[in-house]
Amino acid sequence: MTQSTPAIVILGQGSLATALRIQQVYPAALIHGLAGRVEGADRSYQEFGTTLRKLYLQDTPIIALCAAGIVIRTLAPLLLEKGAEPPVLAVAEDGSAVVPLLGGLGGVNVMAREIGSALQIAAAITTSGELRFGTCLLNPPAGYTLGDLESGKRFVSDLLAGHSVRIEGAAPWLAQAHLPEDPQAQRSIHVGSAQREASASELLIYPRSIAVAVSAEVADLPNAIRTALQQSRVVVQSLACLVAADTDMASANLREAALELDVPLRFVAAQKDLTALVCHALPQASIVEANGLAIAVAEQPLDVSQIGRARGRLAVIGLGPGAAELMVPAVKAELARATDVLGYETYVKMAGPFRDDQVQHCTDNREEMQRARHAFRLAAEGRSVIVVSSGDPGVFAMAAAVLEALHESSDPAWHSVDLEILPGVSASLATAAQAGAPLGHDFCVMSLSDNLKPWSIIEKRLDLAAEADLALAFYNPISRARPWQLGLALEIVARHRTGATPVVLGRDIGRPGQTLRVTTLGQLTPEQVDMRTMVLIGSSTTCTFPKPDGGEWVYTPRWYGEKPQS
Ligand code: SAH
Repeated sequence: MTQSTPAIVILGQGSLATALRIQQVYPAALIHGLAGRVEGADRSYQEFGTTLRKLYLQDTPIIALCAAGIVIRTLAPLLLEKGAEPPVLAVAEDGSAVVPLLGGLGGVNVMAREIGSALQIAAAITTSGELRFGTCLLNPPAGYTLGDLESGKRFVSDLLAGHSVRIEGAAPWLAQAHLPEDPQAQRSIHVGSAQREASASELLIYPRSIAVAVSAEVADLPNAIRTALQQSRVVVQSLACLVAADTDMASANLREAALELDVPLRFVAAQKDLTALVCHALPQASIVEANGLAIAVAEQPLDVSQIGRARGRLAVIGLGPGAAELMVPAVKAELARATDVLGYETYVKMAGPFRDDQVQHCTDNREEMQRARHAFRLAAEGRSVIVVSSGDPGVFAMAAAVLEALHESSDPAWHSVDLEILPGVSASLATAAQAGAPLGHDFCVMSLSDNLKPWSIIEKRLDLAAEADLALAFYNPISRARPWQLGLALEIVARHRTGATPVVLGRDIGRPGQTLRVTTLGQLTPEQVDMRTMVLIGSSTTCTFPKPDGGEWVYTPRWYGEKPQS
């Protein structure tokens, strides 16, 4: 079973040392510490119960450093509703005990043993089958799938009740187990990909040992594949991957079929037909043709990563302003699957921590087109590449550079890359939210940088936007190389706005040391602004009123002209 990265949850500073030892077993796991109680955690949370339940519902394996009872009570309301569950373990704060609680079929006992050996203690395994046989028969290793869980449970009970068993087929992982083996036994563990009648005396385990060669033109591919497998008398559970010609790489038909059958898609150089294609991809396997497709059946589970290559992926992601809570879940998931991460060093660091197997390519902020091309070269090799931007990638950031690089390229391999742009919370929106709703009506977003556009066009746009009475959001307001532009911009705006117009300055919003300042156009000077600041200037209707705890709310009403009756 593939395991997602666990979360280590701690309640107090006293648990950090044990948490760090466990983190050495799972280097990608983040330590979540209670805010105000724990310093030095990777993430901080406000409320234990909400955090634990959220992780559980997201199927994240949980290692909680606290009493087992606390974990049980916290998760209790969710237990009956959920079918498949992630592993959940309680570990004593001082590292003296590890108790697997939930997720027997998700490999909780394997984790308990891994943690136990790191902490040099015995795991408190309570699963009878596992204790007696030294393995969980219902949770075969990667490369194998269990036929049926319910009949499997009965089968294990039978063995616990004293029945002996024989093993048919290759089950190398059972060599270490202590099974009551007997060549004459009535009951058997059968490992194989051939279709068989279900029988109470057999535990069926399927090796993922079959690849099917497919082409993008086949209609209703998932059913065509199921029919082909059935005609060849092998089971769909043994399907390890689909293989196709790399000329079909961008096909949505193939992608959807692989998604529906929940198997990876691998690509090899195009051949004269599907049989030649699968022979080329899997020279060792035996090949059969069925239903117009070609099927390769191997003796052992297939190592899919060794067959051809995957379709490369390039995701241009937005981290949001900085705070982890403001990063969209799709971006988090993408960060976990990436093999390569490209971006300006500050943002790559912000996106981390990364696992040892994830390659970080940090570059200077200015080299955008080079970075975009580098990303395509890596993705075209079949890697899963991320290009990182802060805020939203489509707002004065990398998404446009990546599309420009693709538009300029005639390389079919680049155009076959699975390209996706994942949005983020842009600095103007994060700043506006903290101030209230200064962008609550029509507004105009501008970068004041004249690096890539002439200053004259900036002046013209400022003048027209200010005249149109739009609220204004300025990115890149000032820098050491551009010291005078902001002063001029403010003069242009002042031609159309009074000195009392509200202004919001957000600096490092969502990052450590953030500041938010509400002032007016009349009082604003360029010295109050630097390149890490977002400048929001109100329209003629933007107003402010005091907050009870000091500071001011700023908002621009939804209406313009006459206030509507409410
Ligand atoms: N793609 C980014 C913007 C990049 S341009 C986004 O959508 O937010 C860089 C400018 O954005 C900076 O000069 C600053 O004006 C603004 N900015 C980015 N992050 C910020 C933050 N956390 N707080 C305030 N301003 C920020």
